[in-house]
Amino acid sequence: MNKQKKKLPLAMQIFIALILAIVVGLLMQSQAAFTENYIKPFGTIFLNLLKFIVVPIVLFSIMCGIISMKDIKKVGTIGLKTVLYYMCTTAFAITIGLIGGNIFQRFFPVIATTDLAYEMPEKTSVMDTIVNIFPSNFISPMVESNMLQVIVIALLLGFSIIKLGEKNIGIVKACNNINEIFMKCMEMILKLSPIGVFCLLCPVVASNGAAIIGSLAMVLLAAYICYILHAVVVYSVAVKTMGGISPAKFFKEMLPAIMFAFSSASSVGTLPINMECVEKLGAKKEVSSFVLPLGATINMDGTAIYQGVCAIFIASCYGIHLTLPQMMTIILTATLASIGTAGVPGSGMVMLAMVLTSVGLPVDGIALVAGVDRIFDMGRTTVNITGDASCCIIVSNQESKKEQRRAKKVQP
Ligand code: ASP
Repeated sequence: MNKQKKKLPLAMQIFIALILAIVVGLLMQSQAAFTENYIKPFGTIFLNLLKFIVVPIVLFSIMCGIISMKDIKKVGTIGLKTVLYYMCTTAFAITIGLIGGNIFQRFFPVIATTDLAYEMPEKTSVMDTIVNIFPSNFISPMVESNMLQVIVIALLLGFSIIKLGEKNIGIVKACNNINEIFMKCMEMILKLSPIGVFCLLCPVVASNGAAIIGSLAMVLLAAYICYILHAVVVYSVAVKTMGGISPAKFFKEMLPAIMFAFSSASSVGTLPINMECVEKLGAKKEVSSFVLPLGATINMDGTAIYQGVCAIFIASCYGIHLTLPQMMTIILTATLASIGTAGVPGSGMVMLAMVLTSVGLPVDGIALVAGVDRIFDMGRTTVNITGDASCCIIVSNQESKKEQRRAKKVQP
């Protein structure tokens, strides 16, 4: 009898790896150095493979998404809707973060603030940031994984191919074929995700397990309550009212991407799984291949929440009370900072410096939360990618409706 062995679905495998990592991590708290030296490197290998595949995936999937729309105006409307949704939900997120931070403020511990040290990243002005979006050569954005520049290249190439008109048939085919090759390659890498998840998470639990119970528990709790509130309220309402699907179905299908984002703390790394999840939810490929890579780069609702909660936390540790205008400034800068945050582990913490400086809070305060940043990061990344997916479902649904309306008009 040649019975085929039934394979556990990838989502289940990732889930088991996640639980196992937490259990093993807690058991190995006294051997955190071992997990750091011998388990983490395998996680790093997995992350490296993801980093390798992500640049070509973003470049080709955005290009193919644009080309398949065949119309620059259509790309413009979808792009505008996407960016608008991203900005609005991020502003919502930071507001929730600030409210949550204020409610929890009385529980925040008083922490000695004398021996803090955080190295301030080099300051760049807003104009420099804008200039840096545009690449000055073709290769370096790919080498440095500068995703905003890669997106600009993809947009320019995509538009140029559409503009070529009839001559572009061969190029379109070639682009789609190359995209398929990278997608296959990504599929192979993703098969390793349970191992990757285990090796990434286990050392984090081993070295931070005790800290969770420590004095930072309250600020972590505040951030996680806000993350959950934002995801459950804002995204549920959005997908139900504008996306036409039930929130329960949305979160159920999103589980593999959610678990992966939680373990890897990288939006960009989660991109491939996120694409699979939204396609299962019925999103159009031409929309997902454009909206998701863009979101993984510029849409960071979880990061915005974290910045709001941490700004309040750091202020209260220093005995500073933030005024309303200061909070408004935080909403604005955190929304902008989340655009500039790269979808890789830890980048949100660097951008927190920009938010703190904007309202004159001591940047050194970052040292207070830096030790447990990874734990904040796992939650904020999960929110980040769920936000991208909700946008994708909504834009895709609107496009389908538009097409149906058009088809009805054409029919006599
Ligand atoms: N790790 C987050 C992400 O990939 C970014 C951050 O650090 O906030 O979405």
